[in-house]
Amino acid sequence: MNIHEYQAKAVLKEYGAPVAEGVAIFSADEAEAAAKQLPGPLWVVKSQIHAGGRGKGKFKELEADAKGGVRLAKTIEEVVANAKEMLGNTLVTAQTGADGKVVNRLYIEDGADIARELYLSLLVDRSCGQVAFVASTEGGMDIEEVAASTPEKILTLPIDPLEGVTDEKAAQLCDALELDGDARADGLKLFPILYTAFVEKDMALLEINPLIVMKDGHLRVLDAKVSFDGNALFRHDDIMALRDKSEEDEKEIEASKYDLAYVALDGNIGCMVNGAGLAMATMDIIKLYGAEPANFLDVGGGASKEKVTAAFKIITSDPNAKGILVNIFGGIMRCDVIAEGVLAAVKEVGLQVPLVVRLEGTNVELGKKIINESGLNVIPADDLDDAAQKIVAAVKEAE
Ligand code: GDP
Ligand code: MG
Repeated sequence: MNIHEYQAKAVLKEYGAPVAEGVAIFSADEAEAAAKQLPGPLWVVKSQIHAGGRGKGKFKELEADAKGGVRLAKTIEEVVANAKEMLGNTLVTAQTGADGKVVNRLYIEDGADIARELYLSLLVDRSCGQVAFVASTEGGMDIEEVAASTPEKILTLPIDPLEGVTDEKAAQLCDALELDGDARADGLKLFPILYTAFVEKDMALLEINPLIVMKDGHLRVLDAKVSFDGNALFRHDDIMALRDKSEEDEKEIEASKYDLAYVALDGNIGCMVNGAGLAMATMDIIKLYGAEPANFLDVGGGASKEKVTAAFKIITSDPNAKGILVNIFGGIMRCDVIAEGVLAAVKEVGLQVPLVVRLEGTNVELGKKIINESGLNVIPADDLDDAAQKIVAAVKEAE
């Protein structure tokens, strides 16, 4: 689960990280009061969306030369004018996709005088099975570009969970970020704080880009992107309360209500499969035959008819899905339950696109019978290979 920048900063502030003062607002009416709470003489008006690259982003509704999603303001009037211009409009960044995201919240922050922009993040490094810091002096810009062209400028430093951030490791990070004086003292304090926050809150990613050295020589967390391990959220009610469903895919929210493992993707073939491994194989074979899956969906082992119905409705509600492939290998799952679930969903919402069904395993004859007698225009398939070819062909034909 992702949260907004201002929320991430509040979490980090609790642990003692240096963040600026700021006020989140939901309407332009609140902008003046928010700016007045901050000392000036520089304010930053920051779009709050679950995507990075806001500074270089463009608003769809504004002129092409209008400023991006992070703006500096020198007066309270400028804060208000920018807030009016940004709120309610759609920000397109390198991370949002072409549709962009509507800016419903702004963060008005006390502006900093920046001397240097650094990069610092924490992530779970699967190659060593430890939480690792990633640090670079080249912050503020596209870190992927730095990683690709000058990887020697990036330090990856795994932290032994039994030792935590030792003085030696903290010093290594200071050296990598070329910190001295007050900034070095701030760094030595900050790194253990970030590590503790990461571990205690079950974060999956904590990215500070940029971490800045200010003109007064001190460090400040200027941007913060945090995502949490969804499997650990049950033990963090405070974090769950920060969830912003308007930032999430509606189909994924619906799927989570039914405990379905569903991930929306960019392709045009909707998939309903049981078992994550079979779902991955189904996606692979769709790609092999030249198309792309519209989603990953694992209905699970002993899914009920209601769950299958919900799953099928979610797939059909996706306007990108130009065809649907149901691929079931019934072990614990029974093929007749799948067939009934599909029929119930089609009765409710109709079926506008080609549907290929491949059933195998427990109660397969009964499942096929239910579908054959339903009058539904189903393209039957014998095995996975056959099914993938048929759905890809049907979708191409319909185009
Ligand atoms: P992102 O574009 O979504 O990553 O948003 P950031 O929060 O990283 O802000 C983008 C850029 O705006 C930063 O890299 C800074 O150059 C600039 N910026 C943000 N806050 C301040 C500030 O307080 N003072 C100054 N001078 N620049 C800032
Ligand atoms: Mg940033």
